[in-house]
Amino acid sequence: MITTKLDIETIREDFPILKRKVNGYPLVYLDNAATSQTPKQVINTIVDYYSRYNANIHRGVHSLSQEATDSYENARIKIQKHINAVQPYEIIFTSGTTDSINLVANGFTSFLKKGDELLVSAMEHHSNIVPWQMLCERTGAVLKVIPMNHEGELLTEDYAKLLSKKTKLVVCNHVSNALGTINPIERIISLAHEVDAAVLIDGAQAAPHIKIDVQELNVDFYTVSAHKICGPTGVGILYGKEEWLTKLPPYQGGGEMIAEVTFEKTTYADLPHKFEAGTPNISGGIAFGAAIDYMNSLGYDAIASYEKELLEYATEKLMAIQGLKIYGTSQHKTSVISFNVEGIHPYDIGTILDKLGIAVRTGHHCAQPVMDYFNIPGTIRASFSFYNTKDEADILVEGVKKAVQMLS
Ligand SMILES: *Cc1c(COP(=O)(O)O)cnc(C)c1O
Repeated sequence: MITTKLDIETIREDFPILKRKVNGYPLVYLDNAATSQTPKQVINTIVDYYSRYNANIHRGVHSLSQEATDSYENARIKIQKHINAVQPYEIIFTSGTTDSINLVANGFTSFLKKGDELLVSAMEHHSNIVPWQMLCERTGAVLKVIPMNHEGELLTEDYAKLLSKKTKLVVCNHVSNALGTINPIERIISLAHEVDAAVLIDGAQAAPHIKIDVQELNVDFYTVSAHKICGPTGVGILYGKEEWLTKLPPYQGGGEMIAEVTFEKTTYADLPHKFEAGTPNISGGIAFGAAIDYMNSLGYDAIASYEKELLEYATEKLMAIQGLKIYGTSQHKTSVISFNVEGIHPYDIGTILDKLGIAVRTGHHCAQPVMDYFNIPGTIRASFSFYNTKDEADILVEGVKKAVQMLS
């Protein structure tokens, strides 16, 4: 395949927000792991929906409702094709990764009994920990942790030893939001399947950087949030293998998810509607489809190679700052740099960077166990996207130097 080089200046024109000033400085947006910015192609899709065909879906006989339904279902098909799911109805629209995980955790209540085991990795986002703890409380199942090393890599040997016939489910992120590590999920999935455990992969951080093929991965459940992949907030998907989604009981009750309702008995709708109670985020779903189109118009190979260049450039420059330590040093990582400077609280550096128009995240990044592992209160996290530049990496480095000077 030919990897075309990205034309970053032209790409930046697609993102109106990048022209903004913050505190008198041009915005340098390096908080892409929290949420990505939105290109005008996606913004225009939302404007177009509300300007031309805003209507409820799957219900009306009128033309607007038909157009809205077609666009929404077309977005589902785009997402299906994008992650190579077998069927469009294996794509469940949710409000995002958190919602997708809760849907599965809730459904597993009826599958688990006391003493069953769930494995969760040491580097999960809270949204891939807490729903499973709640599930264990409901069922008496036991949560066990797949450990990691100081590079921020999962210990696959230890993982293999944790697996047994008691293991019913393994949950792990594809890419860590706190460290940027790309986890060896192919191996995690195949080992789990050897003991007949199901696997849920949290793909919130992977989808913006890596082309996903759920059939090749042979994964049972996979989650994506639109807002981290150039789409709007409040929408995402749960991919589930048809056999799993058929077994899994409905999550929420309401309109749209039923086949027939009487006061004696209600029967549920077929997939995907069984899991889509109530009026969904229609414009959001359609715009998610537009975001996928946008990402594919750039190409994942081109995105990955450019982001790698940015990662290496910024890592080298940051490492030259005295006392600076990077957390998450795996060879396999996305363009996330989590760091601290010795003797300085991450929040203080983040505050000074903001004064300079530089947006980074500081804190525990919804991954407190990761911070506990490294024995730190939090980190400064600079996360790069394909629309960032080396100039912006330089501005970050100069900003950190200035902050260190002011604070030490
Ligand atoms: C952002 C994120 C989540 C939560 O996604 P929401 O869109 O807030 O539901 C879960 N896991 C990871 C790895 C994330 O980066």
